[in-house]
Amino acid sequence: MLIVQKFGGTSVGDLNRIANVASRVSATKKAGNDVVVVVSAMSGETNKLIEYAEFFSKTPSRADMDMLLSSGERVTASLLAIALNEMGHSAVAMTGRGAGIVTDSIHTKARIQDINPTALNQAIKEGKIVVVAGFQGVTEDGNVTTLGRGGSDLSAVAIAGAMKADLCEIYTDVSGIFTTDPRIEPKAKKLTQISYDEMLELASLGAKVLQNRSVELAKKLNVNLVTRTSFSNEEGTLITKEENIMEKPVVSGIALDRNQARVSLMGVADRPGIASDIFTKLANNGVNIDMIIQNTAHDGKANIDFTVPVSDLNDAKLAVDSFMQTGEITNSSYNESICKVSIVGVGMKSHTGVAAKAFSTMAQENININMISTSEIKVSMVIDEKYAELAVRSLHSAYQLDK
Ligand code: ADP
Ligand code: ASP
Ligand code: MG
Repeated sequence: MLIVQKFGGTSVGDLNRIANVASRVSATKKAGNDVVVVVSAMSGETNKLIEYAEFFSKTPSRADMDMLLSSGERVTASLLAIALNEMGHSAVAMTGRGAGIVTDSIHTKARIQDINPTALNQAIKEGKIVVVAGFQGVTEDGNVTTLGRGGSDLSAVAIAGAMKADLCEIYTDVSGIFTTDPRIEPKAKKLTQISYDEMLELASLGAKVLQNRSVELAKKLNVNLVTRTSFSNEEGTLITKEENIMEKPVVSGIALDRNQARVSLMGVADRPGIASDIFTKLANNGVNIDMIIQNTAHDGKANIDFTVPVSDLNDAKLAVDSFMQTGEITNSSYNESICKVSIVGVGMKSHTGVAAKAFSTMAQENININMISTSEIKVSMVIDEKYAELAVRSLHSAYQLDK
């Protein structure tokens, strides 16, 4: 079998843990498999590098940031290759560029455009273990890019897809995908399987156990994806097609996203095209918009509220300010003390009352819901951040996910 094994930050968090990873990779290889390993930076390392940059500038160039951030993954890839060679294997470390990962030039959140696996395939053919630095690629012009936070998951899935690997294993610090973040609700249960679509919703709605773009790509390329822990031999969670899953619970999981901010625009001119103008400007500034609420206009003025990731808030403010200058928005305010809690499940498609139960659960806990949005398989609510954990735990128990 050809297996891609990805080890996240905590799994390579110190030298002893890298040695532990080396033993695991070695065992996989000795069992007769071909192995490509993808590694993250040591845990905390990427954040530390970001802080270093902030010492000098609040607005460093994104290309400079990519040069800086991509270095964390190179450290772990090289160390792991050194450890494996010392164990008598023939291992080779590669950068994203070396592994043939070509991206667009949107620095710090580049998209993979193409993978040329020639070097990877050649090394595997020579019997080598390949260790790839995750989270990074290269533009056609040869500039280093990174793939967005958590992007080593994407590197692993993309390589598994390009090399037609039999399996892509994501090793992390929890033993699989749980009904909610086990750090918030210790009663959370590990799922043996989950569909790509539910996992994509959970990941997009804040469950950082897998980067959402990696799940999207795994679905598209039909990659067999397993999440498990590097700290024991416990079996993990298989992420697979919906039709492969026999038992479909109405609700599979609860996700929490603390990195959301609410933007409120007051006294917005009530004329045709204003929403288009505002949201086009926001889009051009690279701002990701999630929920939007517009109230009925009074005296030719309306209010519009929407949510954005905290990391996009500065760019959103710049866009809003330009409308304040023209007088088409009278006032604006920003609230970072909010969070978004969501329930996800494919079974919602065929069951009624799922959203009503979420709202009554919030009511019982006296938690005010600020905004609501739904899709076929999710219900999301924006609430005050101080109720985040209470909301997650009450929903978890209301849908009997602990049973
Ligand atoms: P890595 O560094 O290995 O990439 P991450 O920190 O990115 O690991 O992701 C693992 C973390 O995701 C877990 O420690 C856990 O707190 C969190 N998490 C959030 N939601 C879930 C969930 N539904 N199931 C499992 N883990 C979750
Ligand atoms: N090191 C990067 C991050 O912290 C990428 C990753 O770990 O997947 O976001
Ligand atoms: Mg991660």
